[in-house]
Amino acid sequence: MTEWMRETLHDDHAQALRVDAVLYDSATDHQRLRVFENARFGRVLTLDDVVQTTEGDNFIYHEMLTHVPIFAHGSVERVLIIGGGDGGMAREVLRHAGVRHVTMVEIDAGVVEFSRQYLPRLSNGAFDDPRLELVIADGAVFMRETDQTFDVIIVDSTDPIGPGEVLFTDHFYGHAKRALNPGGILVTQNGVPFMQPDELIGTMRAFSALFADWGCYLATVPTYAGGPMAFGWGTDGDARKVSLEILQARHAEAGFTADYYTPEVHLAAFALPGYVKRLMPG
Ligand code: SAM
Repeated sequence: MTEWMRETLHDDHAQALRVDAVLYDSATDHQRLRVFENARFGRVLTLDDVVQTTEGDNFIYHEMLTHVPIFAHGSVERVLIIGGGDGGMAREVLRHAGVRHVTMVEIDAGVVEFSRQYLPRLSNGAFDDPRLELVIADGAVFMRETDQTFDVIIVDSTDPIGPGEVLFTDHFYGHAKRALNPGGILVTQNGVPFMQPDELIGTMRAFSALFADWGCYLATVPTYAGGPMAFGWGTDGDARKVSLEILQARHAEAGFTADYYTPEVHLAAFALPGYVKRLMPG
């Protein structure tokens, strides 16, 4: 009999992925982790039956949360990733030769361990890169207590239920701002606004009180169902004003080709349709 993974994120809508083979299924102290094989998306990672990432489409999410702030900034050396246990975010950050140090703060050592074992293509060697420092801790506690500063902070969290909830609070964003170097950029995953408008509304309200330049940008990730997903953007610098020509030069100099990110997509991603614009405060 065909088995399907039915996502539990919404109570009035569900996407289902066919489970062709279960590779891992276990409950950690924090959440239920599953890795299974799907013919279209390759290996799929779920936490509490919510798709976190797939081999097939993760490049869109990870490239947009890394290359957009890093190319916009132009001289990023120190990056902080909050969450990100599958290693995909670290993989993309570390493609930038100018990045000298990446701190990744993940609450669940189990996610890291089994991702390394069952989803090695996600991290693609990132965990062995000497520039990566892995800290197993609650990102909110780390953020509150750290005296380190960063050029880019990426919040690669789960949705605001369970352990991820603290990563959507005004307190957390305030501490993140304090940990940014001058001109530094904070980016966040904010779900799919058509399905989860409150997730974006809350973050934008907090960012509008904290940052001189705040907003969001969009990209469509097939397994995050319901339309484009939103990424929060907050900075006191002017990185958003970067021109196409400068982005093209930085991209060419970086010497790698991405599968989703292009300088043109970078600029276009900040164009918001009306229903998303209306979620912005003020
Ligand atoms: N791409 C996914 C999405 O859009 O839902 C999320 C990626 S997944 C790598 C998110 C990671 O955040 C998980 O590994 C989870 O364990 C971690 N996480 C959740 N709450 C956290 C917290 N308070 N501190 C640090 N990491 C946390």
